[in-house]
Amino acid sequence: MRVTLLGTGDTTGTPTVGCDCATCVAARARGIERSRFSVHIENERTDESILVDLSPDFRQQFLSQAVPLPDAAVVTHIHFDHLDGLGNAYRVFDELPVYAANEVDPKTGESVAETIRRKYEYLDRVSVFDMTPLASVEICGLELTLVPVEHPPLLCFGLVVVDPETGAQLSLSGDTSYDIPADSREQLSGPDLFLADAIVSAALCDHHPLGGSHHDADGVPRSFGTKHMTRKGALALADELEADVTRLVHTAHYYPADEAFEEPLAVDGEQYRLDGTGVTRLDTATTESGPTTD
Ligand SMILES: [Zn+2]
Ligand SMILES: [Zn+2]
Ligand SMILES: [Zn+2]
Repeated sequence: MRVTLLGTGDTTGTPTVGCDCATCVAARARGIERSRFSVHIENERTDESILVDLSPDFRQQFLSQAVPLPDAAVVTHIHFDHLDGLGNAYRVFDELPVYAANEVDPKTGESVAETIRRKYEYLDRVSVFDMTPLASVEICGLELTLVPVEHPPLLCFGLVVVDPETGAQLSLSGDTSYDIPADSREQLSGPDLFLADAIVSAALCDHHPLGGSHHDADGVPRSFGTKHMTRKGALALADELEADVTRLVHTAHYYPADEAFEEPLAVDGEQYRLDGTGVTRLDTATTESGPTTD
């Protein structure tokens, strides 16, 4: 399984338009992009691929990264930065199956799958298929399981992808606070590669109207407000899940410039091969400490 990080930023991305903060200035100067969230997963045995989330930056991501268009897509939740790129399917795909959870969200009165059907009804090349959370489904020869996470007020899901031939496992936290339910943690555990939402460092919680939450024994918040993990929370979760390699994703330009481009914060274009025996980084690293995978 070959995994390409197409979009590693939060909802405004880095650089953020109109922003002259030191992090956005540094990103522009160094040509570093953190576009809106999307991950490309290729089953190299079958030459099929799956896209996790449809970024508003879909077009630019596929122009700049050498990966094939996907044969199927999975959507974790209905926020703009994860879904609104689906409009790009128009006249690009002959057919695109899109998979999403069938659990009705009390907030919207419909499931993620139903929202996608309603919003994109005009796209006749797109068919939406229901997935039952915590039940695995085979897509493109890989086993995918959506796991409930905590991203109030909306339902949101993390994702586990296993290659049944090699046992390789990729886990994605999805947009979530640190407060992930135990049965979801169990499914996410033991990944070769873990992609964890780490929107900001814990110190930034002072600037959130709700502050931080889910503090650790040292009083450090593992969640930023109620919707996302801090860097501290994401790394604590990675430890608990015993992840082999962890990359922090969905990161915001609020990371101070001296921290924003250091390991283990991911940038767009990172690519990994998971073969069941370990993780190999395939791209040339552009972050500070060179081509390491940890
Ligand atoms: Zn900025
Ligand atoms: Zn979200
Ligand atoms: Zn998001």
